[in-house]
Amino acid sequence: MAGEEIVVIPGDGVGNEVVPAARSVLEAVGEFEFVEAEAGDAVKERTGEALPPETYDRVAAADATLFGAAGETAADVILPLREAVDSFVNVRPARAYPGVDALRPETDVVFLRENTEGVYAGHESRLSGDLSTLTRVVTTSASERLAEFACEFVADRGADGFHLAHKANVMRETDGRFRDAVVGVADERGVETEEVLMDAFATRVCLDPAAFDVVVCPNLAGDVLSDLAAGLVGGLGLLPSANVGPERGLFEPVHGTAPDIAGEGVANPAAAILSAAMLLEHLGYDGEGADVRAAVEAVLSDGPRTPDLGGDAGTDEVAEAVRSRL
Ligand code: ATP
Ligand code: MG
Repeated sequence: MAGEEIVVIPGDGVGNEVVPAARSVLEAVGEFEFVEAEAGDAVKERTGEALPPETYDRVAAADATLFGAAGETAADVILPLREAVDSFVNVRPARAYPGVDALRPETDVVFLRENTEGVYAGHESRLSGDLSTLTRVVTTSASERLAEFACEFVADRGADGFHLAHKANVMRETDGRFRDAVVGVADERGVETEEVLMDAFATRVCLDPAAFDVVVCPNLAGDVLSDLAAGLVGGLGLLPSANVGPERGLFEPVHGTAPDIAGEGVANPAAAILSAAMLLEHLGYDGEGADVRAAVEAVLSDGPRTPDLGGDAGTDEVAEAVRSRL
């Protein structure tokens, strides 16, 4: 390990429990330089700013960032931080684990969600007392950048191609542009694509998740459909995510601050530790990332488990069990 700088932002709520747990796992596998930074409700209360400029600057300069969660201020924190790493894709694996109750135990789907445009980059207007509108932004360049990432991603995964979810039959101009750009890049690279209308996908992934492996989506569709898949694998405490940019990355559990259990020391650290595994892979430490994932899987299967998975262990006990498996 070359002493890469990793910014650590626990944030609010259970972020303060699961992020230190994930950091302890990173410390167990490598020599990194950790920089603690603040963001979220607590720092806003103290200083008036949810995202202090020094936090933004550190994230924009670091090799990678591990983020927990922010409460009320989530949008003020996470959107600028994604921009700080120039993140154009949100990678969200939804995978069921042996030993964990899941609606669909055969689920193992990775969503590659466009992270910069669509309706989230659009402009909303109130045109009258009766009428509001929203414009939707889709560029060929952002769609192609996502497609290039997707092609490399499936090659690394040893897959032949990916599904592409869209609604180009209705949104012919915007989703049509997205579809044409993504399919164009994949064709050029010899990567197979199968198109699926996003509404049909929602049904099909529930009925037969094993039919899907990698799914490329526009921003809003990726947000909604990956949460739907989260429901299939059982438990927000298990889902990691990566916001990937050309050089840097921001890694965070999909769950939020979990105010109902915050402060009790019982949050499941698996999602944060699996996010740390994605961080390791982003830095090029594929072996270490795989080791961490295997250790989490072993602990999920054999225990100890936190209460959300039917156990009675605390966050630190689970993290300690993961470290001892490494
Ligand atoms: P926020 O507004 O910060 O997203 P929320 O109320 O939506 O907060 P989430 O964090 O999204 O809460 O959690 C939703 C549910 O999932 C809560 O019941 C929470 O306890 C549970 N949950 C979330 N993360 C974890 C975790 N790491 N371990 C155990 N349970 C969790
Ligand atoms: Mg939430």
